[in-house]
Order: sequence, then C-alpha cells, then structure tokens
Amino acid sequence: MNNIIDGKAVAAHIKAEIAANVQQLIRDGGKAPCLAAVLVGHDGASETYVAAKVRTCGEIGFRSKLIRFEDDVCEEELLECICGLNNDSDVDGFIVQLPLPQHISEAKIIEAIDYRKDVDGFHPINIGRMLAGLPCFLPATPAGALELIRYYNIETKGKHCVVIGRSRIVGKPLAMLMMQKAYPGDCTVSVCHSRSNNLREMCLQADIIIVALGKPYFLKADMVKQGAVVIDVGLTRLPSSATSTGYKLAGDVDFNQVAPLCSYISPVPGGVGPMTIVSLMKNTWQAAAKTIYP
Ligand code: NAP
Repeated sequence: MNNIIDGKAVAAHIKAEIAANVQQLIRDGGKAPCLAAVLVGHDGASETYVAAKVRTCGEIGFRSKLIRFEDDVCEEELLECICGLNNDSDVDGFIVQLPLPQHISEAKIIEAIDYRKDVDGFHPINIGRMLAGLPCFLPATPAGALELIRYYNIETKGKHCVVIGRSRIVGKPLAMLMMQKAYPGDCTVSVCHSRSNNLREMCLQADIIIVALGKPYFLKADMVKQGAVVIDVGLTRLPSSATSTGYKLAGDVDFNQVAPLCSYISPVPGGVGPMTIVSLMKNTWQAAAKTIYP
C-alpha cells in the first residue's frame, strides 16, 4: 500500500500560512515583502517558471518585480542590474532565472548577488553556511523536497538514502541536507551520478531514493526495494499532442511501475515542483523579516 505525496496540497497549506503572516505584517503597519526576478531571453521553461513565481507572489500578498533582458545582454549590464537590486532597499530578495546565455558566466552573476538577498540559495556563502549547519537561505528545490518529507513525517534517521544526481543546485545540496544532524536528515547518504557503476545495486539497498537526473522514467521497478520512499525531482518537458501546451511534464521515475512498491512516492507533476516555488517564497519571507541575516 503506498502513499502518494501531494505536493500541491502541502504547497497550498504553506502558502496559506505565509499569506496569513503577510496580512498580519500589513495590519501591524509593515510593508509586504518584495521579490524581484531577472529573466534573460525567452526560453519557454524559464518564462513559465518566472510567471509562476510572480503569480505566487500575488497570491500570497508579496510584491514582485520582473526585470527582463534580451538574450544578447552583456555581462556588465546584468552585473549593473544586480548591483542595483543589491542596493534597492525596497527589494527584499531576488533571483536570476537560470540558465543564462552561454556568453554570461553564471558563477560570476551568482557571486555578484548580495548573499543576504540570495533567496535562491545559490551564492557560495549560503552554500557554505548550509554545509556548516548555519542559518542560511536553502536552495529552493532541495528545501521543498525536505519539506515534503517533514510534512508526511517520513522517518529518515539511520535510513540509507540514495540521491541520483550531483548538480550544484539539486543533487549535492540534497545529499548534504539528508546527512545533516537533524530531521529530516541523519541518513547514511550515497550519491550516484553518470559515472556510477553500480547504480541499480545502490538503489536496491536504499530506504529512500531521491531522483534528480533529468532523464524521464529512469527509475524502474527492478531498482527499488519493497517499502522504499521515492522522491522524484525530475522535470522534463516531453512533446505531446494530447495537451494544449504541446508538451507534458515527465519525472525521472517510471511512476506506474515503481509506485506499487513504495511506502511513499512523490508524483510528477504535483510533487516536488509546487514545493520549489513555496520554498522560494519562504526564503523571501525570511529575507524581509531578516530572520536569517538580521
Ligand atoms: P543537471 O545539472 O543536468 O544534473 C543532472 C545530474 O544527473 C548530474 O549529476 C549527472 O551526472 C546525473 N546523471 C545524468 N545522467 C545520469 C545517468 N544516466 N545515471 C546517473 N546519473 C546521471 O540537472 P539538475 O539541474 O540537477 O536537475 C535534475 C532534474 O531535476 C531535471 O529534470 C530538472 O528539470 C529537475 N529540476 C526540477 C526542479 C523542480 O522544481 N521540481 C527544480 C530544479 C531541477 P554527472 O554529474 O556525472 O554529469
């Protein structure tokens, strides 16, 4: 018997909590938190993600600013924009939507962001503080995945957690957070990636598998032991004639095969995806309230 994790419902619950906090803040004479988003170019997925972030701000009573640049913007101009946002006291936190065009160094852009406004949690200072177990802005997708585990009260202490994927923004922080001395955490963590030889054997030993590699339907039933928890972070757009958008969203887990084996499983869509935006909103709330960096 498996439990399907309802990321939409959890996200709605947390959004309602933040919205209530914002209303209280305004009643107390405070100003609604403000999130700014910098979007370069017209990539379809990035447009969708940024639109969803701006929409969510509206839903929970945050203010938002969208700053757009064309694909050919030069690095200096983008750096100037970041400098402006760093110094703009009206903006509590901001994000630069990734990926950026090839001619712009993402590392340089991220490092230019004031870490106290880095609500994506990508700045090396926030990553370092996460590693050290200090208060920081956690990267939104890993934080969202953890929030689901917490919400469903899934046991993690002493469990073997296999994370598939070691990217800077998803796999690595997830592995780090699952091994931290806390809840969720206290796991024995194995990290698998494209060079891992024994990925199937590792997965078969796992109590918790977090899949974040970007390969649709990668995790099959013969890689999962009975009773495992599976968290699917993958999100790939596949062409589809059955939807009005012309694409459908696919996760990294072959859900129909794997779900019957699991004690808990997060679906795609409707699992980690909605939690990512909520984590960004939580970070923005904390930036405005100055709870992490007074
Ligand atoms: P990424 O930067 O492309 O990293 C993918 C990772 O998977 C890499 O570490 C890579 O290994 C590993 N990998 C690739 N092929 C593999 C294979 N055959 N076997 C084992 N490992 C393999 O991707 P990402 O940014 O971490 O994103 C991962 C997925 O999460 C994507 O589908 C993305 O769309 C999704 N995502 C979802 C959200 C959300 O809101 N739900 C947010 C962010 C990302 P190497 O390091 O060896 O190359």
